[in-house]
Amino acid sequence: MKNRDNDMKIEIHQIPSTGLELAFEEQPDRFASVKELMETGECRFVAPVDIALQVTPVPDMIRVEGGFNTTIRQACVRCMERFDGTLESHFTLDYSKAIPDDVHRNDGNSVELTAQQIGMIHYQGDEIDFTDAIQEQIVMAIPYHPLCSDACKGLCAQCGQNLNIGDCRCSGQDTDGPFDVLKKLKLSSE
Ligand SMILES: [Zn+2]
Ligand SMILES: [Zn+2]
Repeated sequence: MKNRDNDMKIEIHQIPSTGLELAFEEQPDRFASVKELMETGECRFVAPVDIALQVTPVPDMIRVEGGFNTTIRQACVRCMERFDGTLESHFTLDYSKAIPDDVHRNDGNSVELTAQQIGMIHYQGDEIDFTDAIQEQIVMAIPYHPLCSDACKGLCAQCGQNLNIGDCRCSGQDTDGPFDVLKKLKLSSE
């Protein structure tokens, strides 16, 4: 059994110059923002999150290339049916210990930029914790308008029938419409 507190961290001095491959299998509720989404019913994670990272030291930075894969259950925005879909993403994260106070532009003026603005993640001490950055990647990957299929026919606006399952009677022949009543009246009067 792994110590969960240490799962998604790495100590810098443990990274060989040739790099290091890491793999994690994490429970979704380990990520606070994901847990929140699950609690509000936004989506359900129905599988652990498989994470693979390639950690490489490059000059002044630690570069992390990787991805994750999991399965989430969401309600389709067209037909309202819940469906399971693969959620995955690939990303590159650059961790820097020293963030320049200012960055010199071509015109000679210097501007102050935060680590985030120049696409880097600041770390302190001798340890990088991947949790926050990976959590951000997971949350960004969740579809805002989930569709069970691109061809989803949705619901009939009149009767609410799920048109993926079958056609409703709204647009087809209406067997109990006014003409049927007329036919019956005609028959009985003959
Ligand atoms: Zn659908
Ligand atoms: Zn209908």
